[in-house]
Amino acid sequence: MSPTVLPTAPRAVHVDASTRQDSPSAGTPDLHRSSTSGTLLCVDEGTSEVMRDTKDWTWVLERPCEQCGFDAAGVARHQVGARLRAGMPTWHRLLSGPTATRRPDPTTWSPLEYACHVRDVHIVFSARVAMVLGQHDPEFANWDQDETAESQAYAEQDPATVARELAQETERVAAAYDVLDPTDEALWARPARRSNGSVFTLDSLARYHLHDVEHHVWDVRPAGA
Ligand SMILES: [Zn+2]
Repeated sequence: MSPTVLPTAPRAVHVDASTRQDSPSAGTPDLHRSSTSGTLLCVDEGTSEVMRDTKDWTWVLERPCEQCGFDAAGVARHQVGARLRAGMPTWHRLLSGPTATRRPDPTTWSPLEYACHVRDVHIVFSARVAMVLGQHDPEFANWDQDETAESQAYAEQDPATVARELAQETERVAAAYDVLDPTDEALWARPARRSNGSVFTLDSLARYHLHDVEHHVWDVRPAGA
């Protein structure tokens, strides 16, 4: 498959006020790898369409993720930036390899599509962190991840370009966390809300963000790993 380079603009990630909640597995049913996600998603076997994930993933702040093993309670604030960066070698390897654009099955994203998604997750969370720091109790508009994947034609983007963009956005948001004093409790307690009513603090937002990113590294792990 030879991907077509589209004039995509990572900064133009669509954020709307619809009711669907962003989550680590939007558009990525992973039915063939996980028993825990299979009941949450439906796949239309007649096409390559993936039904949308409507699960609210905020539970991952309360207990470890049974899929990727992420434990929000075990995240040290000063390590958030470094852990966000830690997946980059995996993404670079996958995006420069022969399977970059290959979906493991018709209903699971290719590494390229996952990488586009993670890049855009970073862009959205960069904006959210800035909102929490700059406003009192801001409300985040919902980000429709599936709509973004379709409108931005993730599958048609250029893997090398996406690798560069992902590296850039990873560094940008990791650096934003790096400068925050991990001992400043008032800072990390700054509140925010999502449009569905979920309540976050800067602290829980960072942990939620990190899980999303680490979960997708798990999503693209080698079969059997
Ligand atoms: Zn997970």
